[in-house]
Amino acid sequence: MAQVNVKSLNKTFPDGTVAVEHLDLEIRDGELFVMLGPSGCGKTTTLRIIAGLEEETSGTVTIGDEVVSGLRPSQRDIAMVFQFYALYPHLSVRDNMAFPLRAAKAPEAEINERVLEAAKMLQLEPYLTRKPSKLSGGEQQRVALGRAMVRHPKAFLMDEPLTNLDAELRADMRAEVKHVQQRLNTTMIYVTHDQTEAMALGHRIAILNKGKLEQLGAPMEVYERPASLFAARFIGSPPMNLIEAEVTNGHLTAAGGMQLLAPEGLKRGQKVIAGVRPERLTVAADGDGARGRVVSREMLGDETIFVVDTEAGLLNVRMPPTARFAEEQAVSVRHIGAAPPAYDPQTEQVVSR
Ligand code: ADP
Ligand code: MG
Repeated sequence: MAQVNVKSLNKTFPDGTVAVEHLDLEIRDGELFVMLGPSGCGKTTTLRIIAGLEEETSGTVTIGDEVVSGLRPSQRDIAMVFQFYALYPHLSVRDNMAFPLRAAKAPEAEINERVLEAAKMLQLEPYLTRKPSKLSGGEQQRVALGRAMVRHPKAFLMDEPLTNLDAELRADMRAEVKHVQQRLNTTMIYVTHDQTEAMALGHRIAILNKGKLEQLGAPMEVYERPASLFAARFIGSPPMNLIEAEVTNGHLTAAGGMQLLAPEGLKRGQKVIAGVRPERLTVAADGDGARGRVVSREMLGDETIFVVDTEAGLLNVRMPPTARFAEEQAVSVRHIGAAPPAYDPQTEQVVSR
């Protein structure tokens, strides 16, 4: 177990591509830390530099108390998991899990003990003598997780390990990863482009954009108060409503007359973009709010998502399943709850306190 620190990290590839820029991260001992961002934002490069598979252009990586620059991957005592699938088909579950320890020439007694410990935790004891082809997809994934666990690494680095799984298996394995991380209390850096996965797993989430840190925070912080429009657009489904508004007397007023509580720290007359989650809006047949027309509704059973075309823009509204509005119906949309975060239209950064 160890903390992992990344300080002023930069990576420019020989062809001139800047993959990582001035990146600072302090990952706590025992933390499940998620790096989230779209394809190409530098997640894999950062992970590979931490693992020692790629050399940084400048900056330092510290694992525990040790600056690891120049150390080979095998000297860093961490486990890198790309995808959970790649098991050796000709080896039994036991031998697959023992593989990293045999490669490290650990004594057989210790290997047995470690494999059994991991098998117990992952409920794989009944399958130890089977070949991977005789296991379900979920069981195979657990074996691959077990294989990463047996070395008791200082940290796990996971690069989109669940990407190639179907939705159901992905949800199962997500729970499994979380469970194992909790039980082992090992530092884990988990990379994903999937915001749902990030929200479900992370103690903290670092959002990356073009090689730079866009925001760092606990899942609810990032959800409630995205630091920028980029973060606002990236987290949440359906996405946050970004509503142009002007600061009036104690309120934000949007086109069509929709009123929102104004956050503190804004000047009267200031133009901002308010970030409003779909569950902070409500639809009514009439009453105050922005008048509009229901464009679509998606009935998901436990909730219904309405898209309403208003003067303030197309708005996503999350409603309980009891809300019955028809497509094309004239309705009004109102804001409920606390003041939303407000963004500067030029800098695209949050301006409200
Ligand atoms: P992510 O994992 O977030 O999708 P990567 O770290 O793989 O992003 O890539 C970050 C950027 O660096 C991308 O623009 C990618 O094309 C570029 N890149 C990655 N590896 C190399 C390489 N070996 N040579 C040149 N450019 C690379
Ligand atoms: Mg990647």
